[in-house]
Amino acid sequence: MIPYGRQSIDQDDIDAVTKVLRGDWLTTGPTVTAFEEALQELSGATRCVSATSGTAALHIAYAAAGVSAGDEVVTTPMTFVATASCALALGARITFVDVEEDTANIDPAAVAAVATEDTKVIAGVDYAGHPIEVDSLLEVSRRIGALLLEDAAHSIGSTYRGRPVGSLADLTTFSFFPTKNMTTAEGGAVATLDPALGQRAHEFHFIGLVRDRDRMRYPDEGPWHQEVHEWGLNYRLPDVLAALGLSQLRRLGEFKARRAEVFARYQEGLAGVEGVRLPTRREHVDPIWHLYPMRVLDGRRREVFDALRADGVGVQVNYIPVYWHPLFEDLGYRRGMCPNAERFYSEEISLPMHAELTDSQVDQVIDAVRRAVGA
Ligand SMILES: *Cc1c(COP(=O)(O)O)cnc(C)c1O
Repeated sequence: MIPYGRQSIDQDDIDAVTKVLRGDWLTTGPTVTAFEEALQELSGATRCVSATSGTAALHIAYAAAGVSAGDEVVTTPMTFVATASCALALGARITFVDVEEDTANIDPAAVAAVATEDTKVIAGVDYAGHPIEVDSLLEVSRRIGALLLEDAAHSIGSTYRGRPVGSLADLTTFSFFPTKNMTTAEGGAVATLDPALGQRAHEFHFIGLVRDRDRMRYPDEGPWHQEVHEWGLNYRLPDVLAALGLSQLRRLGEFKARRAEVFARYQEGLAGVEGVRLPTRREHVDPIWHLYPMRVLDGRRREVFDALRADGVGVQVNYIPVYWHPLFEDLGYRRGMCPNAERFYSEEISLPMHAELTDSQVDQVIDAVRRAVGA
């Protein structure tokens, strides 16, 4: 089976990890700092906080934004559940708005129609690696005094109008799960340009510990003293995994280039095939392609999906609209709310997309798609 996503690990990655294993710091050490600084360099953010997963990064980002009981978070249903459930964990009310028909990204006009002064955060997702319409979304968020969060689990390395993802929204979150564009096994990060948000993110992921003597309520307690002012969790990425991340970051350009080649080969090989619709890219973005979301028309998605799996192609579907999950259904969310997202879900199949796919594997997938749709 050709997997839909897969990590790429080379000898340098392995050496980087074993070097840390032989050293003094398995966690809270200098490799974490080096990884966070390298992430800042790449993303153009001024503060990056590494975390144990993309889900943790979302929890941290919402906490840093100050989301608490009763606050509204406006987000997209076309994402992994964590984009919404992490805000729910802090007591937020979630409002789902529909996606744009071409990119499946959150629709700025739909956001503008529902967001009010009660909205604390607007959270978009760079679906498949294609950045959200940051400029229009920032216009809305600035007008109502909300923060813009960009869930960039798919898009580390993408750019929008020449600017890197991580330097666009108030808060950006990354995931380093093995199927994503680069990996730390499990891992994630929060990026921001705002020092106060960055510090809050850091403290939330570090149990809420305050170590700056100037801020202590009891500064003369002793040299061992640290204080907790607001609760936090332990979401620290260990040095062992940060070493893998640092090594993978050096290879991200190579990964992006190969993913672009795979994308182009699919676009060419599937052009004109009847019964499918291929992904689009807007002029002003340069995505790193995490997914290749093909749409199957005429209600044949399930049939084509099963045929591809039977043919050795490890396809996936990304994603079931978040409010279809029983968690949200039980909170009263009903089907039919976001027709573009539901339609997209009913048609979508993610074809294999990763940096180690060979041309002949891509051609094998193309042939399998042609067979499956009867082209
Ligand atoms: C993968 C993913 C997450 C969660 O990341 P984990 O590292 O798996 O916890 C969140 N949002 C989106 C859009 C994702 O694809």
